[in-house]
Amino acid sequence: MSLSQLARTIAESPTLKLNETAALLKDKGEPVIHLGGGEPKSKAPLDAIVAAAGLLQTGEVRYTPADGIPALKAAIVRYTEEHYDRMVRPENVIVSSGAKQSIMVMLHAILNPKEEVIFPVPYWVSYPEMVKLAGGVPVPVTARDGRFEPTVEEIAEAVGSYTKAIILNSPNNPSGVVYSDDFVAGVVELCEKRDLYLIMDDTYNRLIFDGRAPTNCYRFTRDQNMDTSKLVVVNCVSKMYAMTGFRIGWAVGARDLIRVMTNIQSQETSGAATPSQYAALGALNGVQSSIESLRLTLENNRNVMLKRLGTLEGLHVTQPGGTFYCFPDFSAYEKDSQKLSRFLLEKVRVVTVPGKEFGMEGHLRLSYCGAQKDITEGVERIKWALDPNAPNELFLGDRKVVRDWI
Ligand code: PLP
Repeated sequence: MSLSQLARTIAESPTLKLNETAALLKDKGEPVIHLGGGEPKSKAPLDAIVAAAGLLQTGEVRYTPADGIPALKAAIVRYTEEHYDRMVRPENVIVSSGAKQSIMVMLHAILNPKEEVIFPVPYWVSYPEMVKLAGGVPVPVTARDGRFEPTVEEIAEAVGSYTKAIILNSPNNPSGVVYSDDFVAGVVELCEKRDLYLIMDDTYNRLIFDGRAPTNCYRFTRDQNMDTSKLVVVNCVSKMYAMTGFRIGWAVGARDLIRVMTNIQSQETSGAATPSQYAALGALNGVQSSIESLRLTLENNRNVMLKRLGTLEGLHVTQPGGTFYCFPDFSAYEKDSQKLSRFLLEKVRVVTVPGKEFGMEGHLRLSYCGAQKDITEGVERIKWALDPNAPNELFLGDRKVVRDWI
């Protein structure tokens, strides 16, 4: 088959692949516990369903403006004012098919071949591939002290003549870490000083724990003019409203940039699916209590997971401040994260995501977006598989597994 050079460099999304593997095994009746998931298990808000159903019932489901229906853009303008204390206009907003597409059209809009995009390690699996798809070069920055938040100086050291943008994702997928205000402020200042775009991927910023408030990057900007600032804030309904399948996200940025992003999006997809836009509108304008109830559930789940993980000797876990992921360091047991992840799936049927996919070997990403009983049992199975002093047998459902390794 004759494929483009670019296509040959792009890897499959490992997290979507794992979802497939878990679903296939479950279909075969395997007692799989999925700690690799990336979506809340709660239902979409009723207001979202009613709004989408209302449109569907008319039978008239048409194209919309490529940057989104005016009512949804107006709701996003209000959201930005309420949660970022920032007045923006509809021309500063583009609605896309998920946060992923907003970031993708942004990268297409700003990158020339070989220009670089910097992001901290660990990073969301898709950033390197998305940057490559847009013809750019991904530049991951690892903290020298091994923490999940590099210093501003470390980020600054990676900036060169080809650097075009920096992406920050806080709270972070996969570590759950909420970057400090000082770090975010320092990166905002660095971008303004070096004339770089800054993409704030705020996909998880309503799912924050321990009474902490989400970081508002606009607080740190010197350039208060929306239309000259190179700061772009990306959000979506996917995680906060448990609406991953609706595929609605958005970006807020300078009017001229948003116009170019809209041109690109109009040629790629003509815009986000209309029923999904109505659903997102319903969610944003409707009763907001589902976010707090999801946030509380996740905080509780995090506590359960941390408590269980605390019983694994030699495991190093940084407490997540948000999201529904944690990213323990398993290198005391196995340094090769892909090998470890395969081993856990094969022996005890627990799905995890190898840290290597996020730029950090030795770690596994474990999700706590599922049922507490799965979190508890999943970690118990991992512990049993790794602890040489554990009993010789374990039941997975009604199947007995006998240790034939350590
Ligand atoms: N950004 C981060 C950090 C994510 O983890 C995800 C999804 O997992 C996205 C963006 C994509 O969100 P959406 O499903 O709205 O495209």
